[in-house]
Amino acid sequence: MDLFEFQAKELFAAHGVPTLPGITVTDADAAKAAAEKIGTDTVVKAQVKVGGRGKAGGVKFAPTPDAAREKAQEILGLDIKGHVVGTVLVTQASDIETEYYVSFLLDRSNRTFLAMASAEGGMEIEQLAVERPDALVRVPVDAGTGVDLAKAREIAEAAHMPAEVSEKVAAVLVSLWETFVAEDATLVEVNPLVRTPTGDILALDGKVTLDDNAAFRHAEEFERFADSSTVDPLEAAAKAKHLNYVKLEGAVGIIGNGAGLVMSTLDVVTYAGEEFGGQKPANFLDIGGGASAQVMADGLSIILGDPAVKSVFVNIFGGITACDAVANGIVQAIGMLGDVTKPLVVRLDGNNAEEGRQILADANLSIVHPVDTMDGAAKLAAELASKGN
Ligand code: GDP
Ligand code: MN
Repeated sequence: MDLFEFQAKELFAAHGVPTLPGITVTDADAAKAAAEKIGTDTVVKAQVKVGGRGKAGGVKFAPTPDAAREKAQEILGLDIKGHVVGTVLVTQASDIETEYYVSFLLDRSNRTFLAMASAEGGMEIEQLAVERPDALVRVPVDAGTGVDLAKAREIAEAAHMPAEVSEKVAAVLVSLWETFVAEDATLVEVNPLVRTPTGDILALDGKVTLDDNAAFRHAEEFERFADSSTVDPLEAAAKAKHLNYVKLEGAVGIIGNGAGLVMSTLDVVTYAGEEFGGQKPANFLDIGGGASAQVMADGLSIILGDPAVKSVFVNIFGGITACDAVANGIVQAIGMLGDVTKPLVVRLDGNNAEEGRQILADANLSIVHPVDTMDGAAKLAAELASKGN
């Protein structure tokens, strides 16, 4: 999960990375009140999960509370690379002497952690990496030993941090590493880390990605940081029912048992869909082994509840769960859901496929279209989606 700047800074502050106080607000009057409360010059900053806010007009200096009100008015509602600003952070302003860059991240390709640092921060780091690769150092960090003060000094030195700030930068790096480890992050980034005219080191911006696989260790934070404005309602409903569901762009709803089978179903449907005006899968949904009628009903209700879905492809390979059990599940699920009108193409193969097909035939449901092969079923599902409305 990617965090907003104000959330990242909350974690920084909790682990001793120096930040400035701020208040998040969603309207201009509240921005003025926040600036009054902070009591200094402020900076009003768009809270969107995308970089380059400064250049896009999403970061503005406000010398008075009235200016904060005015700047918030300008920034709220702004579209920054497709992200509409609904919240701004009003934060104490800082004088800047120099801008640096520091981050820790999971380096998947090298199976290690990585520190990146530069004495030239501020601009977008991707640009720096391309234009001045030497100015951005990369120092591998061993997961076992982590970042102690000695390692932090090594990183600061490699990045050519000026001698008079290197001790302070090293201390910040230790705290930043603590944030990274304690919060189970895959990225912590500070750009800019600034040196003020009085020689203080401050994190003026923050970017944090938390590892979703560690959500169970940070239940409170994941709940608090969840951004309901960007969560897909279908994905949220599926999650509540413990379904492995991912919303996609197309109109062919997909249900299968086993992640591998579902992924190949997405490919087969995409391929078959080319013949029917580019029909595509509407979702990924793996109902796993042992799919009961209830799980089938839960899955179907999520998929049928998606207005983009015009047809559904239920692709089952009977293994431990035999096809007759799944067929009974489908028939019962349709009964449980009531008025299902979208067509269901069902392919049953594997263990007890014949019995399963017989159960579907006996149920004699007009919306159910049994097809024996995966390719044939994909083709029919795509065709029905292209005719759907
Ligand atoms: P980004 O553009 O999305 O990365 O947003 P940042 O938070 O990094 O802000 C962009 C730039 O605004 C920074 O690089 C700073 O130069 C400037 N900035 C942000 N906060 C302050 C501040 O408190 N005082 C001053 N003088 N400049 C700031
Ligand atoms: Mn930044």
